[in-house]
Amino acid sequence: MLMPTVSKSAGQRKLRQQVVEEIRAKLLKDRAELANGRGGIMDAGGDFGKDLGDHSVVSLSQDLLFQKAQTATEQIRAIDETIARIDDGTFGICAECGGPIPVKRLQAVRTAQCCCECQGRREGLARRR
Ligand SMILES: [Zn+2]
Repeated sequence: MLMPTVSKSAGQRKLRQQVVEEIRAKLLKDRAELANGRGGIMDAGGDFGKDLGDHSVVSLSQDLLFQKAQTATEQIRAIDETIARIDDGTFGICAECGGPIPVKRLQAVRTAQCCCECQGRREGLARRR
């Protein structure tokens, strides 16, 4: 298993810990907002799926609502996984190469699982499908 080569001063580690706690607080806020939004969306589109043969404008917009709800569900799952990684201490470590993910990237993309390099490679693979 690849381990990140950590050669940081205690001060930097403390700073990183602070950033991680900030990110956790933001994740919890994001999660609450997503959960609220999803509740509303699911209520609005409560009956979709019953009229599969009906391709009216209504069912089209329900498709969009459904997509939004799915996106929210995926984001909530990503947030839950990220918080779990904060708890077990693997947050900020790339899931692909085991290297440290830069703090700036974590602040920009709170649920990032990979460093920029590996994320780029993943997205490259996804595009080729
Ligand atoms: Zn990586």
